[in-house]
Amino acid sequence: DGEVVFVGRSNVGKSTLMREVTGHTFNTGQRPGVTKKPNHFDWTAEDFVITDLPGFGFMKGVPEEVREQIKTDVVQYLERYADEILVGVLVVDGKAVIDIIDRHSGPDEVPHDVEMFHFLRELDIPTVVAVNKMDKVDDEDERLNDLCERLGLYPPWQQWQETIAPISAKRGNIDPLYEAVRHHLHEQERDDL
Ligand code: GDP
Repeated sequence: DGEVVFVGRSNVGKSTLMREVTGHTFNTGQRPGVTKKPNHFDWTAEDFVITDLPGFGFMKGVPEEVREQIKTDVVQYLERYADEILVGVLVVDGKAVIDIIDRHSGPDEVPHDVEMFHFLRELDIPTVVAVNKMDKVDDEDERLNDLCERLGLYPPWQQWQETIAPISAKRGNIDPLYEAVRHHLHEQERDDL
């Protein structure tokens, strides 16, 4: 009962992370934007399922209206199942995220990642940002502090270890994500007592 959902822009490494977390191997060769249905997996020995929602944002060769539709589907899924969602994991690419956010910040533009982060919180879904590809980042602290600032979290990032989880899915270094997710699951168990 309950689910942990994974959302993120396309190409952030969400499939790689899902593989690491679930132990499932699955087709990543599919054309981006084609898999529009949420995928559900069991998290071994736990009481909840993991839901992989389609990647949104820019995808090479996918028309704007298809991309918009994918994002709308993701948003509607989250709204509809908010009560059952125990934790929302927003996966971002640690190497690229700051540049992407800054490029898309403006008077009438909110970057996807920032928008999704606030949206999850508005829905009262405990949120963890899995900052992936940290193996490609040289100054880890600086990058994570910059991300905190963009998300409206007061730096230093170490204050936010239940929210900011630096990982490398490719290398299998995902303990910070497990710890952050576990923190939120336990907090909810306490609330249920
Ligand atoms: P998705 O579109 O979010 O599902 O992304 P994929 O899992 O298909 O990964 C996109 C690309 O990023 C692939 O080339 C992966 O090998 C690469 N990638 C995924 N995770 C990592 C990581 O932790 N570090 C590095 N350096 N590359 C990664």
